[in-house]
Amino acid sequence: MTSIIEVAIAVPLHNTFDYLCNQKVVIGARVKVPFGQKKVIGIVLSHKNKSKFEKLRSVEEVIDSEALLSESVLDFLFWSSNYYHHPIGEVLSNAIPKNLRLGKPAVIKKLSEIKNSISPTILSLTSEQEDAVAEIINYKDSFNGFLLHGVTGSGKTEVYLRVTEKLLEEGKQVLVLVPEIGLTPQMIDRFGKRVNGRVVAVHSQLNETQKQDAYLMAKSGEAKVVLGTRSAIFTSLPNLGLIIVDEEHDGSFKQQSNFRYSARDLSFIRAKLANIPLILGTATPSLETLKNVADKKLTKLVLNNRPGNAIMPDVNLIDMRSQPVEALSNPLVAKIKHYLKEDKQVMLFINRRGYAPIFFCTDCGWRSECSSCDSTLVFHRNVNRLKCHHCGIEKVPESSCPSCKNQNLKILGYGTERLEENLESYFPDATVIRIDRDTTRRKKSFSAHLEKINSGAPCIIVGTQMLAKGHDFSNLAFVGVLDVDIGLMSLDYRATEHLAQLLVQVSGRCGRGDYKGEVNIQTRYPNHPIFNFIRSSEYLKYANTLLLEREEAQLPPYAHQALLCANSKNKDAPEKFLNEVVALLNSIDIDSVEIWGPVPGVIEKKSDYYYFNLYLQSSNRNKLHQIIKTFYKHLEKIKVSSSVRWFIDIDPIE
Ligand code: ADP
Ligand code: ZN
Ligand code: ZN
Repeated sequence: MTSIIEVAIAVPLHNTFDYLCNQKVVIGARVKVPFGQKKVIGIVLSHKNKSKFEKLRSVEEVIDSEALLSESVLDFLFWSSNYYHHPIGEVLSNAIPKNLRLGKPAVIKKLSEIKNSISPTILSLTSEQEDAVAEIINYKDSFNGFLLHGVTGSGKTEVYLRVTEKLLEEGKQVLVLVPEIGLTPQMIDRFGKRVNGRVVAVHSQLNETQKQDAYLMAKSGEAKVVLGTRSAIFTSLPNLGLIIVDEEHDGSFKQQSNFRYSARDLSFIRAKLANIPLILGTATPSLETLKNVADKKLTKLVLNNRPGNAIMPDVNLIDMRSQPVEALSNPLVAKIKHYLKEDKQVMLFINRRGYAPIFFCTDCGWRSECSSCDSTLVFHRNVNRLKCHHCGIEKVPESSCPSCKNQNLKILGYGTERLEENLESYFPDATVIRIDRDTTRRKKSFSAHLEKINSGAPCIIVGTQMLAKGHDFSNLAFVGVLDVDIGLMSLDYRATEHLAQLLVQVSGRCGRGDYKGEVNIQTRYPNHPIFNFIRSSEYLKYANTLLLEREEAQLPPYAHQALLCANSKNKDAPEKFLNEVVALLNSIDIDSVEIWGPVPGVIEKKSDYYYFNLYLQSSNRNKLHQIIKTFYKHLEKIKVSSSVRWFIDIDPIE
């Protein structure tokens, strides 16, 4: 019996492919098919009576006897493909681990252990926690979105655990998304010890076999809790009963390459399709989420107090206008001294790795720049290299100026490496622990650093914002923030929102336990309104003023955007292409959609490619998406130079 099947294949094309198949095959199964000269793995999407193509090729092998992707997951993936205008074949292939993509048999190699042997100390919930748990449980059998707005350390995780325990008792599975799993080992640990069932983590540090096993344990229902980074949103979970997105405001839920989706936004759709509750947890809700609360799309639950004795830290400013041009101001040095003497830990944030961001000639003003990007090279002293943080190029620093040949070359500014060195000279007896991408490239070295900090011994921790996420260091009493001014000066309209979130998050790192912590922020703009709100712990008030500004300017979340980004090694080609797009769009009825651009990318040249952007915006989401569909339909009318690469980014955040 020969039938026709429709197959999705991971190619950058928006269509699917028809094949003949002489075996029984179910929708969602993998098949091996000929494609051009090659054999590829595809996913069966439907059975057909006839095809509009005459000569069909035949399926070579049916790999799965049962569906790898269930109909409900397929529905969700189709929705995602449609919304982000990304080819279905690539969306499906993105949803399954590499081994399965390559056609390996879908069998679990090794079941992971179930941890919960250690009997948990059962905390009695605060009344706020109790209310939150009760409210969510109350609505557990239908789609309901909750914002769990809890100040840092207020016990959000405890709420997640209680709700998870309840749902597991009913045989449900729970999906937990976190921004960066390497940075939240405590989370995996807490779920592993507490819940009655198998907890699996899905993240990029697993090897391919582990990834495949985690995926299949989730799909078979063996795993009761799946904890993962953004791509875990696509995991097959037959009994999914709840989705939790922790730190929902975090930008890393948005994928910034190929298939540009937001796992936070998709969690809404997945919960809706599965008719289950969704919890978005954070101390600093994104403006998008606050607008959803205002529009009654989300129900807000609050945890305003830290359990037990823990109190919020004091936040003070250091006015850098009256300080020498150094990374560390005198008052900051004095504070560090004070807290070390008290046997406490101190943490300093600076948002740049390396030794110094500028290497220049004091005679003629030449500065070392990347030959492939519009950016300066950062000096890394440990390895004696100048490195480009955009494309990764590195070289040995010049010994004389390439422009005037003099030898008066100097460095300017500070990065984590130089700060570490400074601290070591100020505090020769203290332990300084630096945490940034350079010191934590290996998984082991990161956990070794964390272990040292968790021992509670006094030390100075220096790090980039990768430290701000989710850590709970009980002996940390003081946080210093060194370079916020860049965030205040930025042209990006989201910069102040992100800065406010960062400041609240880093402040939340200290003052756990029964010690009142302190935060000092160095700035040359002490009168900026952001600081008053942060100092009085009024993130929400500040967020509301930002929302008003966005509304007045008709910017997201009050408007919906799509970015069409084009790039090419040929400097003029991207702009030319985008101008043709504008002409095309203007020739069709674009109605309520505004067009901005083309404008050069924020960094115009990256890795030898020139970037140009075109923004489409509308207050009506459907209109915007209709225009993009029409654009795709008419695409062949545009002459695209073969040197131009382009992509569409829906709801861009950069
Ligand atoms: P968040 O996720 O909001 O930052 P956590 O859930 O990590 O907060 O809780 C912060 C700390 O407070 C943790 O050490 C946790 O064990 C503790 N904690 C949470 N809930 C309670 C409670 N009801 N009583 C006592 N301690 C609690
Ligand atoms: Zn010079
Ligand atoms: Zn570069």
